[in-house]
Amino acid sequence: MSSIADGQLVLIVEDNAKNLKLARDLLQYHGFRTLEAADAETGVELASSSTPDVILMDIELPGIDGVTALERLRANPATADMTVVAVTASVMPVDQERFAHAGFAGVIVKPIDVKAFPGQVLAYCRRSEDRS
Ligand code: MN
Repeated sequence: MSSIADGQLVLIVEDNAKNLKLARDLLQYHGFRTLEAADAETGVELASSSTPDVILMDIELPGIDGVTALERLRANPATADMTVVAVTASVMPVDQERFAHAGFAGVIVKPIDVKAFPGQVLAYCRRSEDRS
């Protein structure tokens, strides 16, 4: 199996270089285009300048965290409706609830499942297409 995607653009916000490379390599291999940011401020800027189909947002980031970054995206009309998915190692119910309440479209748990990941991301892209 290789390409499942059709050039959908995914913005990956992730401060861990290894995690970032894994996500990028998997997505590119499966036919996505990617943009990358190692911190939330850069991610928020890239989101408004390049309108990705989906944003994969790490939660623990240097500077502002992923939840605050989502608030900033929601506050800007250019990015308010974007599909933003939390990518986190936390599976604690209290955190899951916090992410849902913050307005994330969903959660992908780290470490990512390399087999499932491209399909998970594509499903979020499709959701985002359905809304537009
Ligand atoms: Mn992190």
